[in-house]
Amino acid sequence: MSLISLRRDSFSLLRELMRWRVAMVLSVLIAVLMVVLGSVNVRMGLQDTAQLAWIVLGIALACIVALLVLPRHTGGTVFFCAIALLMVGVMAFGWYHGRNMQHWAYIFPPVIVFLLRSDRALVAMVLFGLYASAMTLPLVPGIDVVRFASGYGLLVCFMYTYALLQERAALMLRYHSDHDALSNCFNRRTFNEALEQLAGPRSSARRCTFLLIDIDYFKAINDLHGHLVGDRIITQVAAELGRAMDPDIPLFRYGGEEFSAMLADVPVAEGAVLAEQLRAAVEAADFQGVPVTVSIGVSHWVRGEGSVTAALDRADRALYEAKRSGRNRCSVSAPADPATPEGAAPVRVPQP
Ligand code: GH3
Ligand code: MG
Ligand code: MG
Repeated sequence: MSLISLRRDSFSLLRELMRWRVAMVLSVLIAVLMVVLGSVNVRMGLQDTAQLAWIVLGIALACIVALLVLPRHTGGTVFFCAIALLMVGVMAFGWYHGRNMQHWAYIFPPVIVFLLRSDRALVAMVLFGLYASAMTLPLVPGIDVVRFASGYGLLVCFMYTYALLQERAALMLRYHSDHDALSNCFNRRTFNEALEQLAGPRSSARRCTFLLIDIDYFKAINDLHGHLVGDRIITQVAAELGRAMDPDIPLFRYGGEEFSAMLADVPVAEGAVLAEQLRAAVEAADFQGVPVTVSIGVSHWVRGEGSVTAALDRADRALYEAKRSGRNRCSVSAPADPATPEGAAPVRVPQP
């Protein structure tokens, strides 16, 4: 399972909300500005530009309706697409009516960075600049086109740098908000969100196998070797687990010395085989002289047959069973039984 395909996490929801708000504020501002501009143009007898202002006013009002009725992401995209296309139309309008519309062109770069990734936005900004210059070339002296191109070019440089920095900062922020600093696994917050999405109606997953992995006698390791060695072992166990499984499977730091893996659309038997491979990988790894093993509880969730939290609970009880029966082993919880939601007693996975 790719976590990315599952997730609409709080980070992207926040960005979506901010973009929607910007679109709403701009739509209202444009609408107000167009009422003023349209009225001034009518008074001055400039019928064609007054007409343009009324068209833009209509578009701004339509955008406000779209932002209110459509889902936030779609509403935001509709607004920024409409404004970008409007700028293309305004340039053509100016060329057709013999009016210089260069001043409108400066709106395009800040709009396009809300729509496209920085590299694509750069291409779009440059193409639009060339288009705007070509459209105004027959209308103004050549030197004015050069002046426009210089100012617009500088604006493109600033907007591209801003978009690039913003993109990098968002990536970094997202990494730190999703990951645990000690183990570099996904953190518990991400686990909770992935769990919510897994069970949610938008998820395509029909079932999921859960692995709960706990380091054995970790308190004793801390007591004997110190907390710094304990920390190093947590980091190394995470690395060993990550190496032993498919990179597409998300590994989470579930708690202090506990990890979990979510195997969406993977049958429980396959999950049990992976659990045994993980256990063996940790047992075989060299922790600079410290013997380290893990116990693993495995459980299964099927859509429509009980909640994901009940399945996690079964994994927890299977883990307890693995601990109880001697540690350094895996135990699989029997599937949920509608009659007894907690399922049957866990079964130990035989070691090779
Ligand atoms: P069991 O085999 O039953 O799991 O025994 P255990 O000793 O591993 O389990 P227990 O829950 O008794 O102890 C877990 C210990 O893990 C207690 C806590 O101090 C330690 N721990 C939790 N998080 C960290 C951490 O980030 N770093 C270090 N060094 N220790 C941690
Ligand atoms: Mg524990
Ligand atoms: Mg433990």
